Amino acid sequence: MIEVFNYIDGERVASQTIFEKRSPVTGVPIAEVYEADASIVDQAVTVAREAWPAWEAMDVETRARVLYNTANEIEKRADAFVEAECADIGRPSSQVRAGHVMRTADIFRMYADELRHWDQASFQGRASSPNIAPEDAPFVNSYTVRHAKGVVGIIAPWNVPLLLLALHVAPALAAGNTVVAKPSEESPQSAVLLAEAFATAAAAAGAPRGVFNVIHGFGANSAGEFLVNNDTINAYGFTGDSSTGKIIMRGAASGLRDVLLELGGKNVGIIFPDADLEEAAKTCAMASFTNTGQVCLSIEKLYVAREIFEPFMTLFVNHARKITLGGPSDDRADIGPLISKKHRERVQSFVDNACEEGAEIICGGKAPSFGDERDNGYFFEPTILTGLSEDAHVMTNEIFGPVCHVGPFDSEAEVLGYANQPPYGLISMIWTKDVSRAHRFGRSIRAGINWVNCWQVRYLRTPLQGFDQSGVGTQGGRQSLEFYTNVSTVTMML
Ligand code: NAD
Repeated sequence: MIEVFNYIDGERVASQTIFEKRSPVTGVPIAEVYEADASIVDQAVTVAREAWPAWEAMDVETRARVLYNTANEIEKRADAFVEAECADIGRPSSQVRAGHVMRTADIFRMYADELRHWDQASFQGRASSPNIAPEDAPFVNSYTVRHAKGVVGIIAPWNVPLLLLALHVAPALAAGNTVVAKPSEESPQSAVLLAEAFATAAAAAGAPRGVFNVIHGFGANSAGEFLVNNDTINAYGFTGDSSTGKIIMRGAASGLRDVLLELGGKNVGIIFPDADLEEAAKTCAMASFTNTGQVCLSIEKLYVAREIFEPFMTLFVNHARKITLGGPSDDRADIGPLISKKHRERVQSFVDNACEEGAEIICGGKAPSFGDERDNGYFFEPTILTGLSEDAHVMTNEIFGPVCHVGPFDSEAEVLGYANQPPYGLISMIWTKDVSRAHRFGRSIRAGINWVNCWQVRYLRTPLQGFDQSGVGTQGGRQSLEFYTNVSTVTMML
């Protein structure tokens, strides 16, 4: 059985309490994880506080080099990252290698580049003052300076563990902060590998130890809550459920700490009659079932123009039925299991509830039967539902599983209303060949990203800001660096 340690001040740290991590593929225990109690969390924060001045004092080129070298270290250790991440979440290994591990290396390089090209604002001219007559306004030079916020607490989810952690950690470190990160209790392994990869790169540049620390545990009454309650932390980066985001925001409010929250969604896809139906159906199957629907950007509601509803449904169901389920090492597998027994029960309860509210199951709707050890894992069939009204439970709550409801629409105004229904606004997907309509919908849907004729295609440096319950603040290239810093203006009389 693997032991998973906390990582503090450059060392693996055990603790008194251990929790078990099970394989989602077979249900058997695979790791014992050392849970951080309040004193270990506080120790990690103290270490990070002590490391901060020296890390921030390193010049931009050196910090950027550490990030580039972290990317190189990740690539060198890719096999270990893939093994750890696959064991924790059960996703096919080729997808984990490309989408989690190599993309995380790209993220570190991207923030190194952003940091090196981050110009600050500068203004020259006559500046006004309430104390000086306009004709005597002095000539000044004003420029901005960026300061790291200090010690940042980062709390990450389990669905794409390494990448979603890196989207906070890399800009926070680039900007000169030190970090205490808590991965999800469901995916503890890769965060420690990342901290070790960074430590190797940082040590080579002469950086202090303790810049990037990792603690393990759950949320309430555990490491997550202890991290949020530590009021010496300067800011929080969080990705996870909207209800958890509210808890973190409440905790941060006690000390007026800043929060960057990437939260849930109930994402809508719209298929217009002029769409390329085959391409749309294929992409919709990807958008609803990739990573077993455990992607915050997944499409859980599809609206299809009534005149093409039947032909689209036939194509979409065909694609869903072709999806192969299997473990990480199964080369034929398109998707793996759900993360846990509890989560599978939750997804099943959504489907059962949908049936009670009048839904018809077109395909899927239950756990598959393999006749081997995978029957003890947490697999769930790609599921397509239809027939629900807009106020049904499944239509208004994020499922975070491989379940998509498909319904018809008759007019642009009607479907725009569905797309802009509160409370979420993370992403949307629109299929049409009409350029005007594409732009009309692209700019009218209140969501962080509106994809036209594609899904999950993204330059990671472009901004993502969830509307309403989908987020607070903006994640992106420059935007993340801005969040993880405070700006100061210097004004000098010339
Ligand atoms: P979650 O909110 O249950 O857990 C996320 C993290 O928060 C975990 O590390 C957990 O231990 C911690 N946590 C839970 N309760 C806490 C508390 N009281 N105090 C401190 N920490 C606490 O979310 P999840 O189930 O891991 O992930 C799924 C959710 O994440 C979905 O809602 C999904 O849409 C969302 N998500 C959003 C994005 C995005 O970019 N917007 C990306 C991925 C996932």
